[in-house]
Amino acid sequence: MGNLRFDVVQEAFKKKAVSPETPAGKPSDYFGSLVFGRSNMRKYLDSETYGKLTRCIDEGFPLDSITADKVAEGMKVWALEHGATHVTHWFQPLTEGTAEKHDSFMNPDGKGGVIEQFDGKSLVQQEPDASSFPNGGIRATFEARGYTAWDPSSPVFIQDDTLCIPSVFVSYTGEALDYKTPLKKALKAVNDAAVPVCRLFDPSVQRVYSYLGWEQEYFLVDEDLFAARPDLVLTGRTLMGHSSSKNQQLNDHYFGAIPSRVTAFMKDVETAGYKLGIPIKTRHNEAAPNQFEMAPVYEEANLANDHNQMLMNAMKRIARKHGFVVLFHEKPFEGINGSGKHNNWSLGTDTGVQLLAPGKDARGNFQFMIFFVNVLAAVQRHNGLLKASIASAGNTHRLGGHEAPPAIVSAFLGQAMTGVLRKLLTVPSDTPIEIAGKKGRRLGVEIPEIFVDNTDRNRTSPFAFTGNRFELRAVGSSANCAGALIVLSAAVAEQLKEFKATVDAAIAGGKSLETAVMDSLKPMIASVLDTLCFDGNGYSDQWKQEAARRGLDTESSVPRMFCQYTAPASVKLFTEQGIFSKKELEARNEVKWDLYSKKELIEARMGSRMALNHILPAGLEYQRRLLENLNLMRENFPDEYRELAAPQIALIRECSALLSDIKTRTEKVEAAWEEAEAMDEAYAKALAAEKAAGALQILRKSIDRLEEVTDNDLWPLPKNREILFIN
Ligand code: ADP
Ligand code: MG
Repeated sequence: MGNLRFDVVQEAFKKKAVSPETPAGKPSDYFGSLVFGRSNMRKYLDSETYGKLTRCIDEGFPLDSITADKVAEGMKVWALEHGATHVTHWFQPLTEGTAEKHDSFMNPDGKGGVIEQFDGKSLVQQEPDASSFPNGGIRATFEARGYTAWDPSSPVFIQDDTLCIPSVFVSYTGEALDYKTPLKKALKAVNDAAVPVCRLFDPSVQRVYSYLGWEQEYFLVDEDLFAARPDLVLTGRTLMGHSSSKNQQLNDHYFGAIPSRVTAFMKDVETAGYKLGIPIKTRHNEAAPNQFEMAPVYEEANLANDHNQMLMNAMKRIARKHGFVVLFHEKPFEGINGSGKHNNWSLGTDTGVQLLAPGKDARGNFQFMIFFVNVLAAVQRHNGLLKASIASAGNTHRLGGHEAPPAIVSAFLGQAMTGVLRKLLTVPSDTPIEIAGKKGRRLGVEIPEIFVDNTDRNRTSPFAFTGNRFELRAVGSSANCAGALIVLSAAVAEQLKEFKATVDAAIAGGKSLETAVMDSLKPMIASVLDTLCFDGNGYSDQWKQEAARRGLDTESSVPRMFCQYTAPASVKLFTEQGIFSKKELEARNEVKWDLYSKKELIEARMGSRMALNHILPAGLEYQRRLLENLNLMRENFPDEYRELAAPQIALIRECSALLSDIKTRTEKVEAAWEEAEAMDEAYAKALAAEKAAGALQILRKSIDRLEEVTDNDLWPLPKNREILFIN
């Protein structure tokens, strides 16, 4: 009897690298060639239209309809020249990933022929049939009316044969149904709060930008092996499978050479990324087998987030060309690292000052210290909400796992900065803050110079200071970065506003700027050192207890974490910063619970089906063979068979115990699934779905053990050692 698994493994193993496309010239020759950026705008628009469009982009001036028509015409000409035939508003709904609905440029000309058309109205606004996008009851399903509107601050680009127009997605009553709308509001809130603080030092500051540099982790799995795993196909992760004898113990993958099939894939992704204007910089193996990472140079946060979504789409497409499927799931395989998306985040002014990097002089450092401490205070105050922002059905397997940030948000500053903060608490408020080793007065608190390139890292910390930025490490690999950035930005904006008001009041009361600032920072410093900052092992049980004592949020249930969004402090935060109304927060929570339930219930259903359709038949067949063997023993050695067949008998006992466990545990999963499926209310349903997920986790333990004892020939599913080591 042939074993399908062996055939699939053989096929996968035989695959050779497909040569990457060779682009003409160096990256600088084709960088941004598929983006309607400034140089293309200049080329395809008249100078008046160009001027109006750039003012719209830079300063938010609305476009009049005549100009919009001209912009659309220029875009159309450019797009047709680059082989585009269709156009779409490209947006980021609350499901994962992006959404698009393609319309052809082609229109009947009324004389029996067709012409290519695209006007300003279709550029600026579209009405997708939006009824099936999640909206948490804001818009009744029958009402199918939401609209997408162009976000001119993100450049239009071409993907395959389609002109993509980055857009926001909102309901007719004005509620955001996507990630981009609140992200833009949150970034504006940070700008509005940070500019007045910067002006304490430099009145010429006009804008404060948020920067994001993401690091995208992912797995590559051969597509034939993928196709032979129904759980991977339907849920993006393996719901069963005992860990491979060799996995990441040797750490050889992290330092190893990138396999040639994978390199070819990466090169094609880089070429595609460069054409889309994405400045991809880094590629490397990650810790787990067949796990990799890609990271660009950081950019303005809204653009960087679009670029992340665009690149994820490109990766999915390009992987297939190389016979791979890319997995963005946070935990595709048990027993080895999952995938995250580190969000490196910082703030900077239009005058070129990086606000989270030590300054050039005492005054610059003083400003740095203000932003540094206020960010920490903001994260401390909203630590539970920040955790809720990265929580998802997929990420739940990563949080609390040993390779990933724990389910408690703390901050890691490193020795150098912790020392600076402690010192600041002990000196008079007008003491200058200096970089050690620099010339000048040596009276102040010193920031050690080496700290700027500090490699002092703590991989267990979810929020780490890394010299000129904070690194939010807890974000899931499949997530939209906006989820976390919205919360972080809102919290920082709120904090900076409060800080500025306190300082203004103290100055009005006669204090100097330095004293007013330091007097207000000191209690914040004392508080974050006591509560938020933690340099130890974030995975330890002691830390869980310690964190609870400190008052940090230690909730570990994902559906419960989402309740943070509608807690009074969060509602106040989001409504005062003009980011979400209470109604939006409630609706979005419904969506989160709903998405969580759906994912967990699909997994529960898939897991129980596989137990019945794949696992039990294989286990029973093995048991039958053992029994046959035992019968033959008895026929041939009637007197001694009990002794001689002791190993078979032991195996039969173990198999039959496992088979019976699998059957009863499957019934429990199915019962939990049914109970959850029957529920209507989103929160209750999510809690019930969480129970089904727990039941599935118990079921898999018996399955994974059965896999270990069953004849390799009979096992119907590709094993981890095959999926993870063939590339
Ligand atoms: P590591 O793995 O050491 O964290 P990587 O090179 O993989 O470093 O990724 C670092 C990321 O941080 C890159 O995307 C980089 O552009 C980004 N980054 C560097 N400086 C800043 C900054 N000031 N603000 C935001 N992101 C930054
Ligand atoms: Mg990295």
